[in-house]
Amino acid sequence: MAQNDFRSELVGSFSEGSNGNPTVAMIEAAFTHHGLNWRYINCEVPPEKLGDAVKGARAMGWKGFNCSIPHKVTVIPHLDGLGESAAIMGAVNCAVNRDGKFIGENTDGQGFLKSLLDVTDPQGKNVVMFGAGGAARAIGVELALAGAKSLTVVNRSASRGEPLVKLLNEKTKTPASLVVWPKNYAIPPGTDIVVNATSIGLGNGNEPLDIDVTSLKSGMVVADVIVDPPDTRFLRDARAQGCTVIDGLGMLINQGVIGVKYWTGIDADPSVMRKKLEEIFGVYRL
Ligand code: NDP
Repeated sequence: MAQNDFRSELVGSFSEGSNGNPTVAMIEAAFTHHGLNWRYINCEVPPEKLGDAVKGARAMGWKGFNCSIPHKVTVIPHLDGLGESAAIMGAVNCAVNRDGKFIGENTDGQGFLKSLLDVTDPQGKNVVMFGAGGAARAIGVELALAGAKSLTVVNRSASRGEPLVKLLNEKTKTPASLVVWPKNYAIPPGTDIVVNATSIGLGNGNEPLDIDVTSLKSGMVVADVIVDPPDTRFLRDARAQGCTVIDGLGMLINQGVIGVKYWTGIDADPSVMRKKLEEIFGVYRL
């Protein structure tokens, strides 16, 4: 950082419920670690003020911003363009200022993919994914773009499951099918990757998925999106079955790493970001 440079570059987040979002702590830990004179401003923005918030970010020369609930879809008309996966998903969680234009990207799915690639490449793999909400949509599209062989979406409601499967079949090369979640669902033999992209486990980590746990086999890679707490019942069961497991912190950290790269050009050190989140969730768990 140049001495006596009193103006920081700005990025941030627009959401409701922003006081529960730890991203600011994780990103600013990276800025500090890499000596960047950048700030991440976590803003509470109601839906009717989203347009004004984006205009404000433009006026102040923000380098970009994250969007979280409930703005991931409604932000699109306020932006100047979309990256490939954001265009397919119709959802943006990260806007990037490229030559004065705000381009919408979706780093949720990319963050998931990056943490998955640390243990396995989804290309040619059979995937079972629980959930069909925003996180599932982002993950499903990235897994398909990464060349997954098949994607089985298991969701409680057909009303959310069907549009996701339709989107995957129409806009990607990966064949997708929907299973409306039956009682005690058994993971089909031949499944390589199993993902919980529902909110089951959020808050206390003890809620089980309604599955036959013995159908989780030792060769499978099992991932969960839940961050709070990261060690969910689903992952504990999978670990006990001998599966390789990936927690939701990896997705959160990697979407942050990708966002920082888009905004600053720097490859942020993920271990610094994980350390900060572990400090935070350790405190939350007490
Ligand atoms: P949504 O509300 O969009 O979707 C929730 C999904 O969970 C739906 O598929 C819903 O099914 C399913 N679901 C919820 N409760 C149950 C239940 N009791 N039984 C069966 N299915 C259930 O949420 P998001 O997709 O935005 O978020 C999902 C989770 O992902 C959240 O916990 C969020 O914190 C986490 N997340 C983590 C990220 C990370 O970086 N690690 C990033 C983004 C999200 P139905 O359609 O039937 O209602």
